[in-house]
Amino acid sequence: MDINKYLTPEVQKYIMYLIFGFVLLETLWEIYLDLRQILRHTNSEITKETEAWVTPEEFSHSNEYTITKMKFDIFKLVYSLITTAIIIFGRIYPHIWHLSVQLCSKMGVKEDSEIIHSLVFMTIQTFIEELVALPLSYYQTFSIEARYNFNKQTNAIFFSDFVKNLAVNIVTMLPLVAGLLSLLINHIGGDYYWLIAWFITITFVIALQIIYPIWIMPLFNKFSPLADDDVVENITELCNECNFPLDGLFEIDGSKRSGKSNAFFIGLCGNRRVVLFDTLVDLHRKAHLLEPKHITAIVGHEIGHSKHNHLWKRISLIFFQMFLLFFGFSVCIDTPLLYTLYGFDSNEKHAFIGILGFMFLMSPVGSIITLLVNIFTRKFEYQADEYAAKRGYDLGTPLVILHTENLSDLNPDPIYSWYHFSHPSLAERLEALHWKPTENLIEKRAQWKILKKELDDIKEQERQAKLEEMMTKSKDKPETQSDKRD
Ligand SMILES: [Zn+2]
Repeated sequence: MDINKYLTPEVQKYIMYLIFGFVLLETLWEIYLDLRQILRHTNSEITKETEAWVTPEEFSHSNEYTITKMKFDIFKLVYSLITTAIIIFGRIYPHIWHLSVQLCSKMGVKEDSEIIHSLVFMTIQTFIEELVALPLSYYQTFSIEARYNFNKQTNAIFFSDFVKNLAVNIVTMLPLVAGLLSLLINHIGGDYYWLIAWFITITFVIALQIIYPIWIMPLFNKFSPLADDDVVENITELCNECNFPLDGLFEIDGSKRSGKSNAFFIGLCGNRRVVLFDTLVDLHRKAHLLEPKHITAIVGHEIGHSKHNHLWKRISLIFFQMFLLFFGFSVCIDTPLLYTLYGFDSNEKHAFIGILGFMFLMSPVGSIITLLVNIFTRKFEYQADEYAAKRGYDLGTPLVILHTENLSDLNPDPIYSWYHFSHPSLAERLEALHWKPTENLIEKRAQWKILKKELDDIKEQERQAKLEEMMTKSKDKPETQSDKRD
C-alpha cells in the first residue's frame, strides 16, 4: 500500500499539528482530572460507606495524601510536556545521533553500520531520559512518601536502583532492537518483514515474563519462602481446594523501600508462585490486623486471576495492539514525517528514528488503548474478587485494611477513576462483595497505631545507638594509630 501519494508535505504538516494538538489536549484533560480530584478531596466530609471503618481524622489524612499526589502530578504533566517540546523543537535527537556516530567512529565502527549507531543512540537516549526523570522520582520518594511515613529507602538504595534499572532496561532492549533493525535494514522476509518483527517481539515479551521473576526481580528484592506456618497451612488448604498447585509461596523484603503492602502472582507458563510483601505479612505478624484467612483471601483473589486466565487475556490484547502497530508502521515506513518529526533532514532516514517517530505519532492511539485496557482489567478485578468470595473467604476486611494502611484513595472522583484506575475503587469492590464489617476495625487499627509508634521508636533508638557506636569507633581509630606510632 502506498499512502505517500496522499501524504503531501502540506498534509504531513497538518498531521503533525494534529498530533501536537492531541498531546496538548491530553495534558490539559489530565490536569483537569487532577483538579477535580483536588476539589473532591478538599474539606470533604467522611462518606456514609466508609464511616463504619475509618475515623474522620483518618479519612481526611488519606485525602491530604491524595491532594499532595495530585498537585505533584500536575507538575509532572507540565514537566513532561516541556521536555517533549525541548526534544522535538530543540532537535535533541539529531544531536544525539551525530554524537553516537562520532563515538562509533572513534571506536573503529564502520561508517555504514546503522545498527551499531542505533544501539549507541538508544543507550544514550535512554540514559538521558532516565536522568531527566530522576529528580521527579527523588522528590516523590524523599519528600512526598517520606512526609506520609511510607519511604524506607536510603539514598544508597535509591541510586543503586536507578543504576540497576537503567542497566536492565538497556541490556534487555539491545538484543530486541538489534534484531528488529536487522530485519528492517536488510529487508529480511520481503513484504512480510513486519509480521516476522511482530512474532519476534511477542516471543521476546513472553520470554521476559519468564525471565523477569527468576533473574531480574532478585536483583532488587530478596525472596524467601514464607515462614509463617499458620498462613502457609491456610493457603495450602485453599490451593488444594481449588486444585491449584503452587510452586512457591514467597515473602519479599518490600519494607526496605516502602511501608506500603502488596501481594502478586507470577507464572505465565507454569511455575506458579505467590509473592507477599513482608509489610503485608507484618499486618498479621506484628499488627494482628490480618488473620491467616484474610491473607488467604488475598491469595484466593490472585488464584482467581489465574483461573480466569486474566494474564493471558491482557497479554493477548497487547499482542493485538502490537500487531496493528507493526502493520501500521510497514504502511508508513517511507513517510518523511516519521523522520523529520524529531528534526532530522528528510533524506536522513534512520530506521530506529522512524520507529520512534511512528510511536510518537501513534501516542493518541496508545492513550485510547490504555483506557480500554483499564476498562477490561477492572472487570477482571471483580471476577477475581468473586472467585475468592465464592470460596467463603472474607476479602472485604483485608481490602479495607490494605487501603487504609496504604492511604489509598477512599473517595475518588468518578471520572478520574474511570480514566486512570486499573482497579475498581474500594467502595465499588465492597459493594460488589456485599461486604459489611464484622469487627471493630477502627479500634483494632488504633491499637496497631500505638504499637507501630513504639516499634518505630525502638528502631530509631537502635539506629541512634548504632550511629553513636560508629562515631566512637571512628574517634578511637586515630588514637590507636597514634599509639602505634608512639
Ligand atoms: Zn487483582
